[in-house]
Amino acid sequence: MTDYEVVIGLELHAQLATRTKLFCGCSTAFGAPPNSQTCPVCLGMPGVLPMLNRAAFDHVVRTALALHCRIDPETAMDRKNYYYPDLPKNYQISQNARPIGVDGWFDMESGGSIKRVRILNVHLEEDAGKLIHPEDTGAATSRVDLNRAGTPLVEIVTGPDLRSVEEAKAYMESMRQFLVALGVSDCKMQEGSLRFEASISLRPFGQEKLGPRVEIKNVNSVRFVLGALECEIRRQTELLNRGESVPQQTVLYDVRHDETRPMRSKEHAEDYRYFPEPDLVPLHLSPERLEAIRATIPELPLARKQRFMQCLGLSSYDAGILVEDPAIAGYFEACAALHADAKAVSNLITNEVLRELKERRLTIDAFPVRPEGLADLLRRMDAGEVSKTVARDVLTEMVATGRGAGPIIEAKGLRQIGDEAVLRALVLQAMQQNPKAVSEVRAGKSKARGALVGPVMRATQGKADPGLINRLIQELLNRPSSGE
Ligand SMILES: [Zn+2]
Repeated sequence: MTDYEVVIGLELHAQLATRTKLFCGCSTAFGAPPNSQTCPVCLGMPGVLPMLNRAAFDHVVRTALALHCRIDPETAMDRKNYYYPDLPKNYQISQNARPIGVDGWFDMESGGSIKRVRILNVHLEEDAGKLIHPEDTGAATSRVDLNRAGTPLVEIVTGPDLRSVEEAKAYMESMRQFLVALGVSDCKMQEGSLRFEASISLRPFGQEKLGPRVEIKNVNSVRFVLGALECEIRRQTELLNRGESVPQQTVLYDVRHDETRPMRSKEHAEDYRYFPEPDLVPLHLSPERLEAIRATIPELPLARKQRFMQCLGLSSYDAGILVEDPAIAGYFEACAALHADAKAVSNLITNEVLRELKERRLTIDAFPVRPEGLADLLRRMDAGEVSKTVARDVLTEMVATGRGAGPIIEAKGLRQIGDEAVLRALVLQAMQQNPKAVSEVRAGKSKARGALVGPVMRATQGKADPGLINRLIQELLNRPSSGE
């Protein structure tokens, strides 16, 4: 079996974070009753005129700038003509000849190193509506919901630079984080705010010429894109191994049967009969406006992650978790500004705070423990007032009641037991009750130590100082013949 090099390019559509649609004042809010957010403009009635949403345009300029694109100061919208039941105008307003940004790049982490992916084109366009096929109800009709029609989208097209399914996955995940951090899209895939289309071809290793592209359409989750890519790699490898060629075409991914099926032969750009949108004037972007938009670009996830690692000493794993959500990263930074041990702050957030948020379905902005409260708890842990185990319960109580760590520790009598005489007696008891663990620890099996620490922790409801217990175990072990 011949091995082939996999060549993948990805096209992304993200719904821009605007309150209204691209050419009318209809709301873009998700979940409204079908066709309730429509007007003559987005229904494609004759005689209406589109008016461009300035915020949507700025979002695309911001995206193109953050992707290091060349920005065209004079861009224009084009008509892409095609007929589809969820596109009442019979054309889509998009950009073809003069996209807002071209020739950029995006750095992402994949397999432990940084990979640069070329960005060919970043442009603005409107979304179509949504067809609903209630086949499972036995209905013979399909329905259309035009609430999405005219929703502003940014389209980002990569070069054929991804070389494996893993790289495609890394791209989709880092792009999502990037767009959320940039504030241009909420990227909620379950609401259709972020969609991917992939093109994939195979070629023998060492061959420069690209093989025929197969495009995969209509996949609405990262997992399905990856499933579809794996299917195509299998299918194309089989064709090539049999000496057949792969036809250039568009395929659909059938999730249920985990297979790809041809949809249509690929249309070419000329089939769309692109022409300049006559109802909109060209868009002029002044240098001042460009710089004003550039100034709104925040620190982006990869740079932030690298800073957390280099300046604050976090591991790649921990920093990666924190930057996944810019609000979490901001909370971490606010806490780290109040408490010098960034690693301890990160541990408490990645382990306990994220668990609390998940269990209570809260966002960090609505989290009742503010950075001051968390830093206070950390200081009490440092001072030995509470053990790590107890701190966890204190935090839960802080979230549930909104009270500070101090009053909770006092009221519940959670202060750590650091009384050596009390603990020494308990340790001795644990050793007498478990001579097997004692001899194992003596023999160098440090894991057996847990069998001695456990009973002391249970006897004190987790309030014993673990450092002190360990010191006492060592001390008692070192005593010649401790009465076994
Ligand atoms: Zn409308």
